Amino acid sequence: MAICVIIRIMDNFFSTQQNTNSLNSQYGNLKNNYEKIFIEAAESIRKELDTFKPENPCNNCSIKDCKIEKKDIFAPFPANCKYRDWQMQTLTFLAGDYRQKLKMIYKNIMDRKSNYTCNNCASCCKLAVSEYSYEQLKQRANKGDKFSKDFISVFVPYKTEEDAKAANPEYFELLNKLVEDDKIYYYYCPKLKGNLCSDYENRPSICKDFPHNPLKLLPSACSYNEWKNDVAHDAMLLKAKVDIIDFYKGKLG
Ligand code: SF4
Ligand code: SF4
Repeated sequence: MAICVIIRIMDNFFSTQQNTNSLNSQYGNLKNNYEKIFIEAAESIRKELDTFKPENPCNNCSIKDCKIEKKDIFAPFPANCKYRDWQMQTLTFLAGDYRQKLKMIYKNIMDRKSNYTCNNCASCCKLAVSEYSYEQLKQRANKGDKFSKDFISVFVPYKTEEDAKAANPEYFELLNKLVEDDKIYYYYCPKLKGNLCSDYENRPSICKDFPHNPLKLLPSACSYNEWKNDVAHDAMLLKAKVDIIDFYKGKLG
């Protein structure tokens, strides 16, 4: 069973509570948890980078006009400075070995999903959300976007927001609360008969692989909330590290 909620801001959405599926408690936990985890991620990366930071190269430096006192990674070190070499090594490390390490962590998080099973509640088939309208999804699909193509192969738009809300009032309300002023579009799958997929053997990968991301908001009835809770800390730490790497690349590149 499956389907995806495509909302950018959902990447910041998760819960670390181990014993609740409540959407509202997930929402309430977001902010504090993210701040703590972001600091943890930043510290962890800084420690890694410090392992190849040069030791006191200024003692033997021939550059006369250098006035940099604080030798932090983002200082404007001149060419030929050992600290500039450190900055370059950092970029190579983050784009290479470190990125591989993060990929393995991501794989481990996704592999842990197999410890849980779908309870066939059909919530993901009854109410799916996209930041794109149906027309926009069709355009994206025509341009080769596989996810959009799969999405419109399954979903059709609800005629009204009231219809979408009736499908899952709690989920609908929370999604609206999260996106605030952003426009979102609601969809359902007409292949759902009762709570069963009438084309189960041919369902696309977005159905088979749902949920695709442990940081997405799930309907409260979805049994994969347990997986989300299980991996929440690791997933958010990973997300924070990826964001921090991008920041390093922007500043040093
Ligand atoms: S194709 Fe089947 S599994 Fe996929 S959304 Fe439709 S009813 Fe659900
Ligand atoms: S348990 Fe999750 S994946 Fe399975 S049908 Fe319900 S919402 Fe979809």
